[in-house]
Amino acid sequence: MKIFIACLGTETNTFSPIPTGLENFSETTLFHGDATQHAPDLFTAAMHVWRKNGEMEQATIVESVAAFAQPAGITVRKVYEDLRDELLADLKAALPVDMVLLSMHGAMVADGYDDCEGDLLRRCREVVGPDTVIGGELDLHCSITPDMCGAADALVTFKEYPHIDPADRAEELYAICRDKRMGQTNPVMAVHDCRMVSTWRTPDEPMKTFVARMQELEGQDGILSVSLAHGFPWGDVPHATARMLVIADGDQAKADDLARQLGREIWDLRHETAPVMTPYKEALAQAAAAAAGPVVIADTADNAGGGAPSDSTFLLREILDQGLNDVLTGLYWDPMAIRHCREAGEGARLDLRIGGKCCRESGLPVDLNVTVERIIEKAYQPFGDVRNSMGMAVWLKADGNVNLVLNSVRTQTFHPDAFRQFGIDLSAMKIIVAKSSQHFYAGFAPLASQVIYASSPGTLNMDFANLPYEKLTTPYWPRIEDPFS
Ligand SMILES: [Zn+2]
Repeated sequence: MKIFIACLGTETNTFSPIPTGLENFSETTLFHGDATQHAPDLFTAAMHVWRKNGEMEQATIVESVAAFAQPAGITVRKVYEDLRDELLADLKAALPVDMVLLSMHGAMVADGYDDCEGDLLRRCREVVGPDTVIGGELDLHCSITPDMCGAADALVTFKEYPHIDPADRAEELYAICRDKRMGQTNPVMAVHDCRMVSTWRTPDEPMKTFVARMQELEGQDGILSVSLAHGFPWGDVPHATARMLVIADGDQAKADDLARQLGREIWDLRHETAPVMTPYKEALAQAAAAAAGPVVIADTADNAGGGAPSDSTFLLREILDQGLNDVLTGLYWDPMAIRHCREAGEGARLDLRIGGKCCRESGLPVDLNVTVERIIEKAYQPFGDVRNSMGMAVWLKADGNVNLVLNSVRTQTFHPDAFRQFGIDLSAMKIIVAKSSQHFYAGFAPLASQVIYASSPGTLNMDFANLPYEKLTTPYWPRIEDPFS
């Protein structure tokens, strides 16, 4: 058996003005056939699993490109086409292959391509013909499209947000595709459009129970896989809404019925599962008034993991205006300010212009007199098992024990170690502001007296009813109370 493995993706925020080009891929994930010789990350983890499983079965593994970019705006056309064509050329050279397994995101948009994954899968199918099994693993913030379903034999999405399960889902996709290849099963897919735009936090009820229920259904009564594709609210594409995806063994009607039934269940939970957000000024005042700290505030609108610049200053301005003390906030993507800090050196006191530089959604820069407490040339933070590069990072302190961490590689705040590596004592803080939507949660919740999700102006506007979609034209909740009527 010969298995072809590759990775190509990013999460495209079509409202973000930051272009996604080759430099972003290089800085995040870019390998040309040797990704599994390096430590796994969120999207190469699947390739490690597939190689391990294939080699255990004495399969030949052909490994192609692994490319993933930190979420931002629309991908440059030539960059997408070059990466795609490299993958397709490797696939042609590897023929004949029994299985093609691709790790993708599912919300990648390039200039001229609203559905990069559909385009990629369709072209892979043209190369390999009808008999090769094609499987794709997707982030749950994906758009499931007819092109994707038409070209792939099986699609499986992450189930957990925060995404702690890519390796588990890779195991499942491998088993489904191998069994099909061995003639033991005949996977058929069904998709139900839930007509909803929202976000769903899976550690919280009732989503925790819903995820467990999806898992219980798998492997029973001819059901091979159940996924809830949450959709990506900031990707303006025709199929942006949440979808239930069910794979059954040969029985299309059974897959259709279950997708519809589970889709109705998630619809019925829409009010209970809608994310609770606190306006940022109120969030900060609430945190300041809390009996004990640290209160962790998620600056959700400026989450780099959703394509935001990570240099917005709305919360920082408010921290200063409210005169709050014992505050820690980050990560601010500000290579220019870091340059000044580096020139001045550790221990220097200087006036620094911080943040507010990248785009209109960044707000205005904040001028602050700060001490450069510490500079780390190569800073890292963990996200699950993955070591995530922060680039060069600087710890700054302003009056009132207001602490900021700036960094040079745009990334969200995944983990307390993003701060702890400087020697910052997090327990001494009253308020910690983390620029993240949800991935911060696993690391920060255990040390937080309270977690508050703040809404503010920014690139990730949570007002789903009023997002300025042009390409998503089907009715959806919460814009329409009953989009099925
Ligand atoms: Zn995601």
